Amino acid sequence: MPLDLVREAQEKLTVDHVDRAVQCQLSTHDGDHFGLLGDDGMCGTALWLRWYGMSEAELVVLPDCPATGGEGCCLFADHAERHTWEDTPEEAPCIS
Ligand SMILES: [Zn+2]
Ligand SMILES: [Zn+2]
Repeated sequence: MPLDLVREAQEKLTVDHVDRAVQCQLSTHDGDHFGLLGDDGMCGTALWLRWYGMSEAELVVLPDCPATGGEGCCLFADHAERHTWEDTPEEAPCIS
């Protein structure tokens, strides 16, 4: 995660530590990767880092996924792939 984005994220977040080794939260998938950075202090949204391959990353504020499967989903609205509560242990997580 680029340093300037770390600084930008820290300004937006209610925490003073941003993990530079943010990892994609989705199951194995194609397309953009999304790593959760934290709560931006607003209700129902969170700050995410979006990137694709080795290209530029950007900060995006996304609404929480409204789906509930008993546990609730930890991802954002309209995300690709499965909700977090649909993941099975045999499913390989995205390693980006
Ligand atoms: Zn990914
Ligand atoms: Zn979901």
